Amino acid sequence: MLLPLEVQAAGDWIEISEGDAFICRSEVKVGQNELPLMLKNLRTEIDKTLGLDNSEGLLELYLFRNRRNFVEYVSQRIPEGASRQALYVKGEDRSRVYIYNHNLVRNDIRHECTHALLHHSLPYLPLWMDEGLAEYFEVEHQVRSTGNPHLRDIRFAMFFRHQPDLKKLEQLTSLTEMDKNHYRDSWAWIHFLIHESEESRQLLLDYLKEIREGEPPGRFSSILYQAMPNADARLKQHIKNWK
Ligand SMILES: [Zn+2]
Repeated sequence: MLLPLEVQAAGDWIEISEGDAFICRSEVKVGQNELPLMLKNLRTEIDKTLGLDNSEGLLELYLFRNRRNFVEYVSQRIPEGASRQALYVKGEDRSRVYIYNHNLVRNDIRHECTHALLHHSLPYLPLWMDEGLAEYFEVEHQVRSTGNPHLRDIRFAMFFRHQPDLKKLEQLTSLTEMDKNHYRDSWAWIHFLIHESEESRQLLLDYLKEIREGEPPGRFSSILYQAMPNADARLKQHIKNWK
């Protein structure tokens, strides 16, 4: 029996695309292969920017037509995740990302899949760095460094003398402690590290490399301020001058 679209049950996929490392199931029409292509591009961009090698790991993406279907499907499988806006679950053999459709769904997809891809390559990440990177990569490639709403917000805050405090960000251990300013400040430090100079980028890359190789590298702030004692002032200049 064919059901009218409105009463489709959660998990009635109308598109299933399988790429080499990605399986995407969608309740809405996206265009065959668009999602796997988007994920493939994201993986390439992350690898290139952060010097990672992400060839391992299977990622499954579930895209629901609305929040109701998301809640219905997720609550049966991961009850504690049903209250979330979107969900990333790291499994033994593969990672799964659950997301429902809305205006900015592509940003949500890139955000959650960035977490998944980072965790394929790295055994762990400090929370601020994990979220800062996901906030950074969620914006589409063409306007990633210039078009993130955080840029406008952090400029505004810093104009009124706000200083993103890296040591405070490092003390965050759970998502429930994070408010939107923590996300913004984490993003600002990540943007600084990636774009300020070859020196700043190398500090980030070296840190990720140590994590990947299983060395506990200690707090990033200790490494940063040792190499760059005036990092706070440089962050301020960087944010102010970034075009
Ligand atoms: Zn996140």
